[in-house]
Amino acid sequence: MSDSGNPMCPLYISGKWREIAGKTGSPVYNPSRGSVIASVPMCGPEEVNDAVSSAKAAFPAWRDTPPNERAQVLFRVKILLEDAFEELCLGIATEHGKTLSEARGDLRRGIEVVEFACGIPSLLMGESLENIARGIDCHTDRHPLGVVAGICPFNFPALVPMWMWPIAIACGNTFLLKPSEKVPLTMQRVVALLEKAGLPPGVMNIVHGGRECVDAILEHPDVKAISFVGSTPVAREIHRKGTLYGKRVQAAGGAKNFIILMPDADVDRTVEAVKDGAFGCAGERCMAGSTAVAVGDAGKRLLPTLADLVKSMKVGPTDVRESQPDMGAVISAEHKARVSGLIDAGEHGGAKVLADGRSTKVADAPEGFFLGPTLIDEVDESNPLMATEVFGPVLAVMRAKTLDEAIASANRQAFGNGAAIFTNSGKAAREFRRNVSVGMVGINVGVPAPLAYFPFSGWNDSFFGDLHIQGKEGVEFYTQRKTTTTRWFSFGDGEIWAK
Ligand code: NAD
Repeated sequence: MSDSGNPMCPLYISGKWREIAGKTGSPVYNPSRGSVIASVPMCGPEEVNDAVSSAKAAFPAWRDTPPNERAQVLFRVKILLEDAFEELCLGIATEHGKTLSEARGDLRRGIEVVEFACGIPSLLMGESLENIARGIDCHTDRHPLGVVAGICPFNFPALVPMWMWPIAIACGNTFLLKPSEKVPLTMQRVVALLEKAGLPPGVMNIVHGGRECVDAILEHPDVKAISFVGSTPVAREIHRKGTLYGKRVQAAGGAKNFIILMPDADVDRTVEAVKDGAFGCAGERCMAGSTAVAVGDAGKRLLPTLADLVKSMKVGPTDVRESQPDMGAVISAEHKARVSGLIDAGEHGGAKVLADGRSTKVADAPEGFFLGPTLIDEVDESNPLMATEVFGPVLAVMRAKTLDEAIASANRQAFGNGAAIFTNSGKAAREFRRNVSVGMVGINVGVPAPLAYFPFSGWNDSFFGDLHIQGKEGVEFYTQRKTTTTRWFSFGDGEIWAK
């Protein structure tokens, strides 16, 4: 228990849940109610050392466990996750604020990574070439790295950690997870299922906290690799510092995803997809379509319908199974104030608010961190809204005369996660796909987030590192290759048979 009487999240080290006393706790909220539901201990080097020692001790036996046996643990946890699915989703909706259907998407995409990792025996296979020179053969195989760590953001309490640990442990590594201090409860529940599925003690470990905890992970000599997902300034720093300490690092950062609306786009389906892309998960998605560029008369055709749709969205609490809104709360009171402030700045910068979420009140949850969906038109590149990632329920609309102009605008911003085009023209789609400087493209798809078998392939300031998260790049990231060249000599005829 914390001083405030809320449960303090335990650490998970050497297969045991460990309560730690005497640590400052950081509050975990239910954003729908604005109430504190738990507390997170802010760990430092001492706890990180213990967790890394546990992972290091578990590594030799886990490395030597055949890949198909490692996969069996994942098959079992997949079944346990399915059995607990609805309960876990309500937990996600409660600690994050997203709707139950968005929580289902969060966990479903995570389970798909477990399913991908169940195929690890095939994924780990090496390559060989016989007779590279007379009597000499060569083969290469994959080996785990050792202790690897995952540091996660708040916006996908299930999916983002599950981008990491299923592949990492399937490859034979042992894992140290630091969930977001804002949403630590989902992974606590999921790791309890991993334990039930028979994962040996020490293969998975959890520590909690913020910067001090992350620094201790970055500086620890026994941590061989770091997977990070979060905002760009932190991702850049984690990559810099992690590589300085000799670690392999993949660090995914923030985004500002452009959605190009062409004049020939299908009105109803485009407007529906653009609304979902901008306001799904209250805009707290690294793949949110936060900036629409209307080309030619696309604005005239699409915006009135879009504005009506946005104004009709119901905002409310998501922690009650029976009555679900279209959109939930944002993560915290501070974040609500930040996003509101950015809308103010955008308006003062000359943009026109078509649907205003700033004054949204929710009668049955007056303390919740609610911000209604906001549609803001006539934004130009110099508007303060364009200077940063908003990460809230705000869709900024820009105008462009031509597709080339729209692509140039998209390419002038620093991020490079995703972008989408809505059009019926194959030529326009092809031009866009080839020339837009991002790693994930949607063609008539508003949120082109790749599934588990593909890399989550951000570019520019949205990713720091070489090998992306998920898919075969994930397997590559969590393994190192060993190449063996073999020649057998024979000493005298039949010598070994003679004994
Ligand atoms: P954040 O950067 O504030 O925090 C991410 C993690 O880093 C947390 O675990 C936090 O405890 C830790 N952290 C925070 N500040 C730190 C510091 N100074 N030093 C070391 N560690 C620190 O991000 P957030 O607010 O939790 O998540 C939202 C961000 O994540 C958005 O920018 C979003 O675009 C991004 N995101 C990116 C992707 C992607 O794939 N590119 C996916 C999801 C979220």
